[in-house]
Amino acid sequence: MIDLHGRNINKLRISLTEVCNMACTYCVTSLSDHKRVSDELNAEQMLSLVRMLKEHAGIEKVRLTGGEPLLYPNLIPIVSGIREMGINSIGMTTNGQLLARKAEALVDAGLKNVNLSLDSLILKISKGWVVLGNYIKLLKVLRLV
Ligand code: SF4
Repeated sequence: MIDLHGRNINKLRISLTEVCNMACTYCVTSLSDHKRVSDELNAEQMLSLVRMLKEHAGIEKVRLTGGEPLLYPNLIPIVSGIREMGINSIGMTTNGQLLARKAEALVDAGLKNVNLSLDSLILKISKGWVVLGNYIKLLKVLRLV
């Protein structure tokens, strides 16, 4: 799809869900702001939308976001479904808190890259040491991805 400035628009960014397990101050005021909405699209509807945009608008790259995309119930079928329709550039933006559980399955399904939000790195001071909260856990996950 060519926009009014002559640029080729071939990237699609999908917010899979409003739900998140964090409450960053610039995003929401509390975790209760992240309730699942009743009209959230299911996996089949999401894939139909992507297919239509691929066929009619030339979408070649997809990025999955939220909220927190790892809390979307059918994330892995969404990733494999997008890959099966011939889109090979599939990325995800996540706070990383739940990535360890699904990283391998997501890579197997076709996920190619991950943007990690630094908000998930919690700094703590303990007995004079600075502990980078989830940093070590995330590094282990990144080796998988
Ligand atoms: S992790 Fe992202 S979606 Fe969740 S509260 Fe923070 S900025 Fe918002």
